Amino acid sequence: MTKIIDGKAVAKKVNAQTATAVADLVAQGIQPGIAVIIVGDDAASQIYVRNKNRKATKLGMHSVVRQLPATTTQAELLAIIADYNADESIHGILVQSPLPAQINEPLVTMAIDPKKDVDGFHPSNVGKLLTNFPGNYPVANTPRGIMTMLHEYGVDPAGKTAVVIGRSTIVGKPMAALLTNANATVTIAHSKTADLKAVARTADILVVATGIAHLITGDDIKPGATVIDVGMDRDENGKLVGDVDFESAQGVAGLITPVPGGVGPMTIATLMQTTVELAKWSDVRE
Ligand code: NAD
Repeated sequence: MTKIIDGKAVAKKVNAQTATAVADLVAQGIQPGIAVIIVGDDAASQIYVRNKNRKATKLGMHSVVRQLPATTTQAELLAIIADYNADESIHGILVQSPLPAQINEPLVTMAIDPKKDVDGFHPSNVGKLLTNFPGNYPVANTPRGIMTMLHEYGVDPAGKTAVVIGRSTIVGKPMAALLTNANATVTIAHSKTADLKAVARTADILVVATGIAHLITGDDIKPGATVIDVGMDRDENGKLVGDVDFESAQGVAGLITPVPGGVGPMTIATLMQTTVELAKWSDVRE
């Protein structure tokens, strides 16, 4: 029997904790604040940003959406980031991707104060994750949310074989680092991996983040494995589906996240959780 991981339910639990943490901080005179910068009018980005703004406001945070035209220059964007770096009412800064071609994305990532890097993409924070550095720092929200789901469903990565398919900076690589830090034996697979399916079948924990609809089917899954589907893809009928063929995984996987209702809700809940943590850490008087 395959059990479905209810990402919405776990997200609800995380959001309830976040709302309490926001109220506690507000009582101390700190309202957690997030600034989301969006450049251009990519339709999917507009929806993501609207959802983030609604959720932050609902949880009692200060939320700013800065909509910039597609013609915004690199210098203009860097100047706006510098303003938010200096703005005490803002604890988390997120620049929504994709960015227009004239913007150099790595430079934008570098420009955000690492203490306000709510996405956890700044090399300083990525380096801390990789070295399992002690102390407080933000970690990419999608993989961190996945770790929360694993914990909620009693899946301890220690001693397990984990395979992460996808090596992006926002999902695959930080996911592999988190699983390694949690004592799993981790393989990162990608578009150039030889015999991907054989590699996938070794996994007790299989995380798939490629953006290719139904890349992984039941035949590629080790019986009883925990399968985390990060993909948000469209099938031939335009329906939202994952990178895993959910139907053929039934009866093979032990646990599986659905699309929608799995990783997606956890990403936004974790983003809110991270914002509050950044606000809390900003108040540490050294
Ligand atoms: P990306 O395009 O940056 O990276 C895709 C990765 O998949 C690459 O490392 C590539 O090597 C690998 N890949 C591509 N084709 C492959 C193949 N045939 N076999 C094996 N590996 C292959 O994508 P990303 O930003 O990491 O996102 C991946 C997917 O996850 C997308 O569908 C995206 O929409 C989704 N996503 C969802 C959430 C969420 O919250 N649910 C968050 C981030 C990304």
